[in-house]
Amino acid sequence: MDIGTLIIGGLLQVWYLVPLLLIVTLFKSRWFKGVCGEFLVNCLLSRLPESDYRLIKDVTLPTDDGTTQVDHVLVSKFGIFVVETKNMKGWIFGSKSQKQWTQKIYRHSSKFQNPLHQNYKHVKTLESLLSIDIAYLHSVVIFIGDSTFKTTMPENVTYARGGLRYIKQFDQIVFSDAEYQSLIERINEVKLRKGVIRDIKHRQHVKAVVAAKEKVKPCSRCGSEMVVRESKRGENKGKQFWGCSAFPKCRAIEDIKAR
Ligand SMILES: [Zn+2]
Repeated sequence: MDIGTLIIGGLLQVWYLVPLLLIVTLFKSRWFKGVCGEFLVNCLLSRLPESDYRLIKDVTLPTDDGTTQVDHVLVSKFGIFVVETKNMKGWIFGSKSQKQWTQKIYRHSSKFQNPLHQNYKHVKTLESLLSIDIAYLHSVVIFIGDSTFKTTMPENVTYARGGLRYIKQFDQIVFSDAEYQSLIERINEVKLRKGVIRDIKHRQHVKAVVAAKEKVKPCSRCGSEMVVRESKRGENKGKQFWGCSAFPKCRAIEDIKAR
């Protein structure tokens, strides 16, 4: 037996490691965890009786400055629950009013936006689109994944199952059957279709490109781009100023402060 045959023989014996490795990588991926988390929350929320609760997923809403995406809107006779899911691991530190929360994994800590603040925008958007009293809109943040709160969790921030418990404690009927049905219809009406979202995103992109172009300062004399230059001599030596890029054809200069 030569070495080549040995190697091939060995490889054949461990061929299954390749698909196994691929599967493990997939399961560990952020994407998979994200899908899994969403799925878990969908499962949890779907357990509520359909006669009283209706789950509307992936709701993209129009806002003044573009769009905003809500993971889950749960419409019920007891109010509307605006659910934001957070798929995180490690230790979490945060309070209701803090602007930023902290995630700590071993010694590494990073900041992220307080999800309650993030979700408040969703609540306000729904409030204005549906023109209903904000008292009937409830913000819920559900943490999925292996995270542990090291500070007291605000009452509407929960781990997976706790979300269900939090929602169920609202048991006063605030919407009639007819109102409940019409709210479901209205949310489906105001929720943006994929094509519309694409259009809005495109418009925003164009706006950003135009804004970036406007930052370019044109020469007031010839229209060429103005560039920052530095005085090489004289009493202003080292001082920066706007100079026309068409120099020496155009000798326009401008004070930098005048911008
Ligand atoms: Zn010029």
